[in-house]
Amino acid sequence: MKITFLGTGTSQGVPVIGCGCKVCISADVRDKRLRSSVLVEQGELRVVIDTGPDFRQQMLRCGCSKLNAVLFTHEHRDHISGLDDIRAFNYIQKSPMDVYGEERVMRALNSSFPYVFAEKKYPGIPQVRMHTITTDAFQIGEMEVIPIRMMHYRLPVLGFRLGDFAYLTDGNYIPEAEKEKLFGVKHLVVNALRRETHISHFTLSEAVSLIEELSPRMGYLTHISHQMGVYAELEKELPSRIRSAYDGLVLEL
Ligand SMILES: [Zn+2]
Ligand SMILES: [Zn+2]
Repeated sequence: MKITFLGTGTSQGVPVIGCGCKVCISADVRDKRLRSSVLVEQGELRVVIDTGPDFRQQMLRCGCSKLNAVLFTHEHRDHISGLDDIRAFNYIQKSPMDVYGEERVMRALNSSFPYVFAEKKYPGIPQVRMHTITTDAFQIGEMEVIPIRMMHYRLPVLGFRLGDFAYLTDGNYIPEAEKEKLFGVKHLVVNALRRETHISHFTLSEAVSLIEELSPRMGYLTHISHQMGVYAELEKELPSRIRSAYDGLVLEL
């Protein structure tokens, strides 16, 4: 399995124009974060988790010219708003895109992209094949997907475990019973927004404690706000088996 971090940033706390802080003016490419998403490749299968506003740029940047499915964690804009650009894959692959999400997320996609779901469709619009999921495991081809319930303040969202890899973005609480689904995972990604407390995201220390509790071989942080500070300084503070992910980081599992 190959994982590519397409984006490791957030819309939270990021000004549209650089605020002039150390991160905004950093020359380190690891401080340039697009909105959070990962590409998962297993054999011939290619799946992305979330399609945020940077989706098109992310697909171009990593040279991804084939995509089989999109998994949605939740319906916040920084995770869904790039869905329109799956039309390029429809055009090349001559088939609808398989899209997986919970029922509430499906309703949100419906109201956010009404033209995609209209009875009389305008030519060239994105084509999707919708699959409503729950917290039960399911298959995409050869890939087993285990959804993990997380709470994002009051919003129930999903993380996903795919074999030895798990991705938990946008949340700050995982029910104990759901943690069992993560036992034995070797590579665990957890959202860590910033150092200060936040209503709906893990802080740096909360993310580190969750990773230490679940004890994967390696833990990675994502959905990082510029309030976290620069990459080089953050890396120095982290325990040896935890790294800050950055855009373009590739894991070969
Ligand atoms: Zn969110
Ligand atoms: Zn988010």
